[in-house]
Amino acid sequence: MHRSSFAKSLADLKSRGVRLTPQRQMILRYLKETHEHPTAEQIYHQVSQEFASISMATVYNTLHRLTELGVIRELSYGDMSSRYDGNDSEHAHLVCEVCGKVADVPCPPIERFTSPELFAHGYAVGSYRLEFYGHCPDCQQSGAGQRDSELN
Ligand SMILES: [Zn+2]
Ligand SMILES: [Zn+2]
Repeated sequence: MHRSSFAKSLADLKSRGVRLTPQRQMILRYLKETHEHPTAEQIYHQVSQEFASISMATVYNTLHRLTELGVIRELSYGDMSSRYDGNDSEHAHLVCEVCGKVADVPCPPIERFTSPELFAHGYAVGSYRLEFYGHCPDCQQSGAGQRDSELN
């Protein structure tokens, strides 16, 4: 399954009877076009350049709604800010423990996980979340990995 484009996601929502305001479309477009996994604050800063009147509450509401509709994903990391992901295909993440950068890496579709242990509990498994933690190239270069994590 490939990552759905902004146009495809918008068409999909329309066919389900979901109409998005221009502000909400802008949030969806930004997430579909970036390969970063921005926080709500970063999304707010981006979108407010075009819609100066947008509120943080609208951004949060929209992110919540788009997550519910399944066109984006929320990645929560404990006490760190959640990241939002416009890539709706099955994939795994590389997470930098120093700067918090998140990158996509391909992973096999759920049907390919054949481990009997996975199905031994009788769950009907529909998705998974797989993340690899380490230090990104920039942080390795700057030696920031030796300092305490300073996220956000
Ligand atoms: Zn990093
Ligand atoms: Zn991702």
